[in-house]
Amino acid sequence: MLGPRHYDLIIVGASFAGLACARTAALRGLKVAVIERKDDPGDQVRTTGILVKEAAEETDIPSELTRRIRGVRLYAPNGTHSDHWAPGYYFLATDTPGLLRWMAQEAWRAGATLHFGARFGAASQDARAVHVEGIGSASLLIGADGANSAVARCFGLDRNSRFLGGVELELSADAGADPRFLHCFLDSELAPGYLAWALTGVSVTQVGVAVRQASKPDIDAVLKRVRTSVELRRVEIVGRRSGLIPVGGVLRRTSVGRVMLMGDAAGYCSPMTGGGIALALRLGRRAAQAAVDWLGADGLHPALVVEREAPRFGMKRLMRRALDLAPPNWMWDGLVGTSAFRTLTHHVYFHRRGAPGELLDETPPAAPIEQKKDIAI
Ligand SMILES: Cc1cc2nc3c(=O)[nH]c(=O)nc-3n(C[C@H](O)[C@H](O)[C@H](O)COP(=O)(O)OP(=O)(O)OC[C@H]3O[C@@H](n4cnc5c(N)ncnc54)[C@H](O)[C@@H]3O)c2cc1C
Repeated sequence: MLGPRHYDLIIVGASFAGLACARTAALRGLKVAVIERKDDPGDQVRTTGILVKEAAEETDIPSELTRRIRGVRLYAPNGTHSDHWAPGYYFLATDTPGLLRWMAQEAWRAGATLHFGARFGAASQDARAVHVEGIGSASLLIGADGANSAVARCFGLDRNSRFLGGVELELSADAGADPRFLHCFLDSELAPGYLAWALTGVSVTQVGVAVRQASKPDIDAVLKRVRTSVELRRVEIVGRRSGLIPVGGVLRRTSVGRVMLMGDAAGYCSPMTGGGIALALRLGRRAAQAAVDWLGADGLHPALVVEREAPRFGMKRLMRRALDLAPPNWMWDGLVGTSAFRTLTHHVYFHRRGAPGELLDETPPAAPIEQKKDIAI
């Protein structure tokens, strides 16, 4: 007999994947519980929180939690830079703690039960249900608990083994980085295996770096470099973020019986750019829809549905290998600004939107306007 603490769906992790999944599942009538080890979803944020346009289209986020960034300014190690953007394309910087709190509230409003300060520990499953110690049982358990998933460990599923290490400083909002751009620094000494970045966020300026597994990020050196290149007016550190980015690609064995993984836990993170929020939102929501069909209408197992729709990252895995070699800085110096590199950059950042010929390189994108005024067309 399944007791009163039986849920249709228990989700471990109240972040992008878990909360997107919880909201949709609860709206569609499932009895949902989310368990999260943090006391508050906005605590200890581990991400820069930039949304690519595709992610912005996935969820309708209150505009005060985001700020539009029109283009990318790429810096070579020798200090030269080139600007890139595509008509109609933008990124959204986010008030990430605020966004996660808002998503939690939306999931709760939809009817999900949220347990904060609750760490997933032991669990088991039988033919009828998954039993989670301290919480109850469920017809389906989704582990959306990040790159180092405890759910994967508990149920013997595949686990991420290749990572980038990321560190980010939050500076006061008035630091002075040109707000039109995501400033990216290619430099194999400063950021072996990936890059360093700076951006004017919603209420802070963010300066970060991610490096390949064998290296250690030196955020002080990054700050020094950014300070000069971006001409920061003011450097007051007000916070810090850090975390692991899984870059090995999608894991093979991400489900067993009534248990499945989602988001970073399943390796749904680009091996090339380290971006995972768009996929967490999209596939989190998709898993919820499939769970409703599976539990109520003999649909396909949600793990199968998600697996079929998830990207394979074939080319991005190859590019990750190339980046892991950390090309010498003279090579970056020679590449940045060439037309082949512009085409590649366009492909990576703007996801094939607009043709390279449409790049308006000579004219910088317009200064950002207050988004609330966007409606006055
Ligand atoms: C430094 C850095 C910068 C990044 N920048 C970007 C970016 O700008 N744009 C982008 O798209 N992607 C970015 N990423 C990647 C992105 O953050 C992840 O892909 C995304 O957060 C994945 O969401 P998720 O919900 O799967 O997992 P996570 O966001 O990792 O959330 C997992 C949740 O599970 C909880 N949890 C973990 N273990 C347990 C447990 N045992 N019990 C209960 N709860 C648990 C955690 O507390 C957390 O809330 C970045 C990553 C890092 C590290």
